[in-house]
Amino acid sequence: MKPAPELLVGGLVPFTTIDFPGRLAAVVFCQGCPWQCDYCYNRHLWQASGENMIPWAEVLAFLEKRQGMLDGVVFSGGEASVQPGLPEALKQVRALGYATALHTNGVVPERLETLLPLLDWVGLDIKAPFDLYEKVTKIPGSGQKARRALDILLRWGGAFETRTTVDLALLSAQDLEAMARDLSESGVKAWALQPCRRDDGVAVLDEGLLAGARAFMPDLVIR
Ligand code: SF4
Repeated sequence: MKPAPELLVGGLVPFTTIDFPGRLAAVVFCQGCPWQCDYCYNRHLWQASGENMIPWAEVLAFLEKRQGMLDGVVFSGGEASVQPGLPEALKQVRALGYATALHTNGVVPERLETLLPLLDWVGLDIKAPFDLYEKVTKIPGSGQKARRALDILLRWGGAFETRTTVDLALLSAQDLEAMARDLSESGVKAWALQPCRRDDGVAVLDEGLLAGARAFMPDLVIR
């Protein structure tokens, strides 16, 4: 049998307490993303390969050394789910005793579904009301894909949260309210909002702006 392709890694954060609920984790940033969000903090990961890639064997060696100190590994990006090497990487990380998490935009819902048996937690980006996705991602049809990914997670029954980067140049209070209504009616329990930081680095989400959204998702959190 042909060996699985190597996971293409563009970065590694050795320790986080905020990216995998209840876990002390490392974050592996994977190369490649088919979408083009204006506010993307990780443009250097858009291409399938980058200038400062870390060999997967180095990541594994790092995780072997951290056994007992960390208990989770998050695969983020870019978009980790588009890489054919991800399933094997998840198996290897689990074999070291780590819990696994995926941060995903849901761009390939069918692949997400096949990954779920290898995952302990998922964070799914919800970028906009599903019919307005293209405004954020620049890619036609992206909203339908994210919708299908959400439906797959809702059927899964495992632990997940939905997350939205709020760029007020792209999302209005009405958009946030429409999203909250849709998520609530779909059965989503966890929704985290992250204000978009532009050049000045300042980002605040006014509670007044969120009043409509809170009416449908009272437990939404701001990070
Ligand atoms: S989906 Fe994520 S990684 Fe891809 S362009 Fe948008 S913000 Fe960047």
